[in-house]
Amino acid sequence: MGQVKLVFLPLWLAGHQVSMLEFVKRLLHHTNNFGNINDISITVLLMKSPSSHALSLPSHPFTLPSSFSGLDVLYHDLPEVEPPRDTQGIEDFVSVFAQSHAPHVKAALAASSVPVTALVVDFFATTIIDVANELDIPTYVYFTSTAFMLGLFLHLPALDQKIDVDFEQIEEEIEIDGIASTVPSRSMPSALMSKSREGQRYFWLVYHGRRFWEAKGVIVNTFAELEHAVVAALGGEGGRLMHGQPLPQVYPVGPILSLGDADHAEEAVTERHECLKWLDGRPPASVVFLCFGSMGTFDTLQVREIASGLEQSGHRFLWSLRTTTPTDGSGGRSPTDTSLDNILPEGFLERTKERGMVWPSWVPQAQILSHGAVGGFVTHCGWNSCLESLWFGVPMLGWPLYAEQHVNELELVRDLGLAVGLRFDRRKDNFVAAGDLERGVRCLMGEGEEGKRVRERVGEMRLASRKAVDEGGSSYMNLKRLAADLIRTKSPK
Ligand code: UDP
Repeated sequence: MGQVKLVFLPLWLAGHQVSMLEFVKRLLHHTNNFGNINDISITVLLMKSPSSHALSLPSHPFTLPSSFSGLDVLYHDLPEVEPPRDTQGIEDFVSVFAQSHAPHVKAALAASSVPVTALVVDFFATTIIDVANELDIPTYVYFTSTAFMLGLFLHLPALDQKIDVDFEQIEEEIEIDGIASTVPSRSMPSALMSKSREGQRYFWLVYHGRRFWEAKGVIVNTFAELEHAVVAALGGEGGRLMHGQPLPQVYPVGPILSLGDADHAEEAVTERHECLKWLDGRPPASVVFLCFGSMGTFDTLQVREIASGLEQSGHRFLWSLRTTTPTDGSGGRSPTDTSLDNILPEGFLERTKERGMVWPSWVPQAQILSHGAVGGFVTHCGWNSCLESLWFGVPMLGWPLYAEQHVNELELVRDLGLAVGLRFDRRKDNFVAAGDLERGVRCLMGEGEEGKRVRERVGEMRLASRKAVDEGGSSYMNLKRLAADLIRTKSPK
């Protein structure tokens, strides 16, 4: 039995912060059962969100959910830092922004009255490992994407040495040593596709990949049954080598989801969202749901192709629509009800009013996926979205847009059979033509063999995902292993 003090450093971005806090919740919930920790104290260091203007990203109504306020956790607001200027993209911005918190993180760690057992950082905040090293505190990385993507990250420093051209120029599949897999260059993460290898987005991905090797362990939001081969290759139990070096311990503890009351959304009686009410009247598994994460937006040309594709497919649809073009003069990227008519093809809303709903902003995605009327999900393949879809057993049609989503799409379609493939043109901003979307939606909704196979596999994975986090399941056992390792590696301050 031992005492543990953990400090967490999430990014402020919704998909990162909420995931890490849900992990904290899970850890607190289970430590009593594990029997090896008798006293756990948790501090979460919160970065103050830079304005959406500084990031030039669309804003969305994210605040720390109230479900985190009742936890036995000390929230420590880090002092505000100046957002970096002239950065080259999201990876550059978040990495530099996280780095500029180093003195404040150091002050918070040094001020702890009890020795800090470990610091857990977001995977874009590996610069903070230096601070932890100075204070002799072991660092763990919290990784919000797949084990496959983790394997790619760990391999990146070696790949960087080996390949001296831009990835776009490579015709053959790129081998990812260590996870015994390959990735065609067209599926590499967006940051690596930037023309210049001198670019900062490229620099940061390789940098973080290198620093993962120094971590005591990497906590990954996936589960062994989902990414069986990759998790085995990364050596769940540790001791495996890649490039002759011992890999950090890998702890697949997912799915870590933020569902709120989504598991009971159909019974909720108060303040049901309009989209849920609309779904209530539809037959089971008859609606295709389209939603593209916190940053997925389309220009008017693409919006019209989507509309035509949906109309031609003949299927019911619920579409969360955000555009790249400010539509109401406010600079916002969510069209208002009044501007929908200007963006969508003429007469579209009238013609599809019996079978379709277009919602011009943020929607309660997890609740929608949990609704029995939803039969398919057109997703940008953000990892939280994919895990939510699997949890509720909804087959996916993958339309990757940014970040590492092309890698996720590749794995889901090619390796795991959990998503239907869609034809998109990566050289043209991932453009999808109406006819291709129509074909994809028909397949997704079970017209044809591929869609049926995917539906069956997703049904199996729904059960597996729930089993993994139950007592005795693979992710539960990995969390228990992590708790034991924390006790064992406790470093005297
Ligand atoms: N989300 C939502 N409503 C929306 C768009 C997104 O609730 O209209 C949630 C979604 O359920 C998921 C998260 O935001 O939990 C998005 O995370 P993901 O990793 O899928 O994509 P990202 O936004 O990081 O690209």
